[in-house]
Amino acid sequence: MGSQIGVTGLAVMGQNLARNIARHGFPVAVHNRSESRTKQLIEHHGDEGDFTPAYSLEEFVAALDRPRRIIIMVKAGAPVDAVIKDLLPLLDAGDIIIDGGNSHYEDTRRRVAELAEHDIHFVGAGISGGEEGALHGPSIMPGGPREAYDPVEPVLTAIAAQVDGTPCCAYIGPDGAGHYVKMAHNGIEYADMQLIAEAYDLLTHAAGLSAPEIARVFEQWNEGDLESFLIEITAKVLAHTDDTTGEPLVDVILDEAEQKGTGRWTAQSALELGVPVTAITEAVFARALSARKDERTKASKILPGPPAGQAGGDFVDAVRDALYASKVVAYAQGFEQIRAASNEYGWDVQPGTLATIWRGGCIIRARFLNRIKDAYDRDPELSNLLLDDYFRDAVAGAQDAWRKVVRTAIELGVPTPAFSSALAYYDGFRRERGPASLIQGLRDLFGAHTYRRTDREGVFHTLWSEDGREVSAD
Ligand code: NDP
Repeated sequence: MGSQIGVTGLAVMGQNLARNIARHGFPVAVHNRSESRTKQLIEHHGDEGDFTPAYSLEEFVAALDRPRRIIIMVKAGAPVDAVIKDLLPLLDAGDIIIDGGNSHYEDTRRRVAELAEHDIHFVGAGISGGEEGALHGPSIMPGGPREAYDPVEPVLTAIAAQVDGTPCCAYIGPDGAGHYVKMAHNGIEYADMQLIAEAYDLLTHAAGLSAPEIARVFEQWNEGDLESFLIEITAKVLAHTDDTTGEPLVDVILDEAEQKGTGRWTAQSALELGVPVTAITEAVFARALSARKDERTKASKILPGPPAGQAGGDFVDAVRDALYASKVVAYAQGFEQIRAASNEYGWDVQPGTLATIWRGGCIIRARFLNRIKDAYDRDPELSNLLLDDYFRDAVAGAQDAWRKVVRTAIELGVPTPAFSSALAYYDGFRRERGPASLIQGLRDLFGAHTYRRTDREGVFHTLWSEDGREVSAD
């Protein structure tokens, strides 16, 4: 008997995923382009399960039971195509390739279609949870042809994180659906982290707290509705003391955020779909601004702002409420984007399923996801999370504090792009009538772009440069 599944690409993610598979009792063949990683895996962890090391792709493919199930865990982009190209002549019809990396969903759509021509099934599976998750139980978002997923389901559900006995792995939809939702998950993660960073900034510069004091605030927040992995690790990072200086580590880390691209992809897709995903997009821009350290340093000596000051009242609690309300908006936007993409591509993604499999394993795992799952259980067709009774009441209850925090931030000159844009979205969304009538008027005047009216059907144009008469433009 051969191996039930194979993993090629044994850097941190592939190696830990292979160990997770082996620890769950599945015989696994392992391969990496450079032999050293394979040797290291066997040397250090070979006793954890039934591994078959392979030092060439031929050996690797020969070690697998049919239909062959091969997980690729290499760098996203061209390396995935290179591995597929090398594998293809060695495979037979009905074999299954699973790409577990952070591939762009458009690449996955292309690969599903190209491989289908060779009768090879392709599953694009988003895997979240970093190296720890890969080893101990990630959240897995598989997409592709259903018949390709079914044979790998027992392995993927076994190695995934489990919450209340439910695996954090479920079929998402055809072609690029899995990688799309993984991308959106990462986008939401960007928004979550930006909101946390803004809260930290406010607690530092408006409430005058030190990093260890803020760590304790986050620890307390982690006992309430904000309970989540990111809040928990925020407390850990803020409480950590630097070995060399004795200062809080966060105070000596360079304030330039890097990015690998999934947040930008999410924002790009949102723009293409025309979905207002302000929190994620602001988070991407905030990272871009943070990266301009030299310019900011120069500007800090030139551009004036308001004098420093201290916020009054229960400001710490107000920041907590503002964070929660903004987070609701960020998730409402993220889920709306996934729905829009699902409609655009015909994926039939179930938002309730996402809320279920994101409760464990992944970076955005949170108590909050149970609330989202409950909302979609109540109404699977819910068009926007803000319209669910629970979230409507939660945001309504937080909004005074939210407005106070944004007001204070503006007065003190503390930038809160995600808090503020989430509030602007909320106010824009809850308005029946907004100012876009003027935009339409302007467009009609300078470009004869026409407008519709509130009181009559049809399309109209005003003869602005003639006698100002309105004419039908139907
Ligand atoms: P890397 O993204 O650092 O990629 C390194 C691996 O890719 C090595 O095994 C390397 O082989 C292989 N590789 C690169 N180019 C080629 C090629 N042309 N042909 C064959 N193999 C190639 O590894 P990670 O483990 O960090 O991530 C794997 C995937 O998982 C990525 O898509 C990543 O975005 C995603 N991911 C990563 C997470 C993380 O926390 N790191 C979290 C979630 C997803 P060699 O050893 O021979 O150089």
